[in-house]
Amino acid sequence: MSLTYEEFKLRADTVRAQIATACTCAGRDPREVGLLAVTKGHPATAAAHAARYGLRAVGENRVQEGVEKRTQCTAVIAWELIGHLQSNKAKLAAAHFDRVQSVDSGKLLHHLDRAAAELGKQLPVLLQLNAGHDPAKFGAEPEDAPRLLELALACKNLRVDGLMTIAPLSDDPAVAARAFANLRAIRDRLAAQCGTPLSELSMGMSDDLAAAIAAGSTLVRVGTALFGTREQV
Ligand SMILES: *Cc1c(COP(=O)(O)O)cnc(C)c1O
Repeated sequence: MSLTYEEFKLRADTVRAQIATACTCAGRDPREVGLLAVTKGHPATAAAHAARYGLRAVGENRVQEGVEKRTQCTAVIAWELIGHLQSNKAKLAAAHFDRVQSVDSGKLLHHLDRAAAELGKQLPVLLQLNAGHDPAKFGAEPEDAPRLLELALACKNLRVDGLMTIAPLSDDPAVAARAFANLRAIRDRLAAQCGTPLSELSMGMSDDLAAAIAAGSTLVRVGTALFGTREQV
């Protein structure tokens, strides 16, 4: 299903209002919370809508799909990779994405750093942690976060902006809330230990963005609420 811009705008206004309400409840300034439009499973026009609406970036979870859409899309917008990345696609990802949010291993850090060096660019990254200890999710285990961060900070061609997590799927909203609070606590601890701000906290999606904002999210990644249900990919 492909939305017209007007349909998209209504949905985006609603999501913006939800973000504003969540910020008010949490005593936060809505300008602290960015909206990443997740365009996976939708055509390149979805990214064009996001750009026209004034959003800074779109998120894709597969390298190939993102690269194809970016080629088709003439609108000026940043592209971020939010899905699991295999080391053998690190070079392609480094070349075509403006930030990689799904960095979860030392091996991947090494490959991305080398690829960025070859491209002569500095690649912004987030470290993805499995903050909800969900066996079904990618992301480094929180126990491994200090070592992963140490490795990341040693990569000269990477810039570590912060952390990302995906909450476990659950009917109990407390499960997501716990994962978000955990990511926030880990960030605060790591930032103090390493003297680096790690200011980006990418957490919260269509169904749990308010809980994520309450816990300190600075970037919610929203697909379904902006573009409707997607084709199964
Ligand atoms: C698909 C996806 C989202 C968006 O999920 P919605 O529930 O459609 O808002 C956010 N983050 C990641 C990592 C995703 O893969």
